[in-house]
Amino acid sequence: MSDALETDVLVVGSGPAGSTAAMYAARAGARVLMIERRSEVGTPVRCGEYMPSNGEIVKMFPNLRDEDSLFDIPDRLVCRETLGIKLVNPKGKVTLLDMPGYTVDRDIFDRYLADRAVKEGAELINRCSFDKIENGAALTSRGEIKYKVIIGADGPGSRVARSLGLSRNRRPYPAVTAQVKGDFEPYLYMYFGDLAPGAYSWIIPKDGRANVGVGCSPRFSDAAVTEYFRRFADKRGFPEHSRVFGKSVPSESPIDKTVSGNGMLIGDSAGQVSSVNGGGIPLAMIAGRIGGIAAAGNVKNGTDLAEYEKQWRSVMEKPLKTAAFNKKLADTFAFRTETTTSMCMAILGKRRLNKLIRCQSLFP
Ligand SMILES: Cc1cc2nc3c(=O)[nH]c(=O)nc-3n(C[C@H](O)[C@H](O)[C@H](O)COP(=O)(O)OP(=O)(O)OC[C@H]3O[C@@H](n4cnc5c(N)ncnc54)[C@H](O)[C@@H]3O)c2cc1C
Repeated sequence: MSDALETDVLVVGSGPAGSTAAMYAARAGARVLMIERRSEVGTPVRCGEYMPSNGEIVKMFPNLRDEDSLFDIPDRLVCRETLGIKLVNPKGKVTLLDMPGYTVDRDIFDRYLADRAVKEGAELINRCSFDKIENGAALTSRGEIKYKVIIGADGPGSRVARSLGLSRNRRPYPAVTAQVKGDFEPYLYMYFGDLAPGAYSWIIPKDGRANVGVGCSPRFSDAAVTEYFRRFADKRGFPEHSRVFGKSVPSESPIDKTVSGNGMLIGDSAGQVSSVNGGGIPLAMIAGRIGGIAAAGNVKNGTDLAEYEKQWRSVMEKPLKTAAFNKKLADTFAFRTETTTSMCMAILGKRRLNKLIRCQSLFP
């Protein structure tokens, strides 16, 4: 790239947030350029690869509209349909929550979303890393890019956030994942507190495989997350697994402001992740649709970008704040020891655990 590129909407990052925003902005008639620092969209996978059903997503976000067109995921992308979640306390007691969902291969899923954006007219450039904004243009590893609106969809450690002067995610925690072979029940297993206080692990079934992983809160844990993964693999009998990859997960509700000047943040970069279960794919796509349409509206009709902030908050803010509050309660009362974790899970019982996992208020 020698001469500066120019576009209406520059999207940084081709995860679910970036590709969804790019698709909706292009569909609304804007010129869209999406840049991705990796050489291939979606690789390597750093995700549990679980998606709740569309009905479950609406239970979490009752103000969401038109979910079926947003989550119109073709059957060929579904690895396995799942029936529910089994929450396991440190003593091995299981609570089954009915919660239909499905699993995907995130690399294929992310490529599908990026291809959809390209089919709508967005341009994608791989191996292009955003560095900073200077004199109103983006400086990247492949030269300068001029834009009218910039969308930061560059994940938890967002450089776009820093360039726009927006705050960073609060208390991100590390999580790692790998793939194992075998036959698994159509339930997600989530184990709490049996590796260490504040650490959790999962087995998420796929077709003849499972995604397995560990997350831990640095506040309570005394070892690296990779060490917890090693202990988890030993304990659950997974001597052979694929290479372990990880990244951080925002844990304390979205940042206070997601729009600044002619820029906005979407997805993990904005902290749009459920604090109680670490799920962020549906949220990134919900915000991506709103953000893409708002960006195109700004370019074509001068619509204020604040419209994005207003609309995503009306759909997601209350449930995400409730989830963050519930996570704080768990950090304060449950995650200290194995005994307190078991005790709190018993006190909450199935009815409240169902609410907890769906970002709903626990009381009354
Ligand atoms: C171990 C783990 C397990 C998880 N499991 C689940 C799960 O089962 N279900 C679920 O819903 N959520 C899960 N999540 C959360 C989910 O992965 C994220 O919320 C989701 O990926 C957010 O999408 P995004 O597009 O905002 O960010 P990302 O998917 O992180 O995409 C950001 C993209 O930006 C690119 N990028 C970053 N910096 C730059 C730069 N400077 N220049 C150019 N490109 C850049 C990255 O390479 C990446 O492709 C998990 C997270 C982790 C870490």
